[in-house]
Amino acid sequence: MRIHHMSCGSFCPVARRWVNGAGSVFERGHLCCHCLLIESNQGLILVDTGLGTADVEQPHLRLGRWFTTVAQPKLQLEDTALHQVQALGFSPRDVRHIVLTHGDLDHAGGLSDFPEAQVHIHTPEHHAMTHPEGMEKVRYRPLQLAHDPKWVLHAPDGDHWMGFDAVRALDDAEPDVLIVPLEGHTRGHAAVAVRREEGWWLHAGDAYFYHGQLDTEHPHIPFGLGLFQRFADHDRPARMANQERLRKLAFAKQGEVSVFCAHDPVELEAARAQTST
Ligand SMILES: [Zn+2]
Repeated sequence: MRIHHMSCGSFCPVARRWVNGAGSVFERGHLCCHCLLIESNQGLILVDTGLGTADVEQPHLRLGRWFTTVAQPKLQLEDTALHQVQALGFSPRDVRHIVLTHGDLDHAGGLSDFPEAQVHIHTPEHHAMTHPEGMEKVRYRPLQLAHDPKWVLHAPDGDHWMGFDAVRALDDAEPDVLIVPLEGHTRGHAAVAVRREEGWWLHAGDAYFYHGQLDTEHPHIPFGLGLFQRFADHDRPARMANQERLRKLAFAKQGEVSVFCAHDPVELEAARAQTST
């Protein structure tokens, strides 16, 4: 399987030092939207979709003013998964499957650019998106789902994988893409594991936000990003426990499992460097 590491959206919030842990508070920060495009025997599989073309064209309507003000998205069509898929010489119809780590607006925005794809999601997350409560009414955007995605729900049961429970393969024909329940950031958040020649990639979505959080000796996150993470937590104790599991996994399986999250540009560059060698 050929695996492409793409960023399908970038955000430029204020105070780079407080977001990226370096630079000045007077500079803009930079966060990416790390997605995977997998060339498989089942056609193309997209893991998360970032922002879509309709989000770029109608940001306030699709993303909401609160998010566009805080996150300051760079609205560029060439960043969308649709454009990157086409730039690689594929048709949008070649994307047969999409796997979402969760349904937040910065992960699900591109769904509407691939209306024929089957969209795989952990069942509790689908329930949260379709029956939102409290803050969930802000984080999920019904307009992004108005095209009625072809949902494929994955119940929270399955096998053991690397110390994680209830893990399910995408389907019988695709045993090398796994949905790994990892709740906390949202009600039904999941990671997605993808087998590669040397081991596994583990796309941890928003289970953590910053590479320093996987530091075994001194886990850390810049102040501003940490505040945002706390604000976005659906169940903080659950997310913290899962973050600890990821930290232990990344350390114990170094060289076998490469863990990354959705929004850290340092991890995106490291993954691209690993892929190109
Ligand atoms: Zn996110």
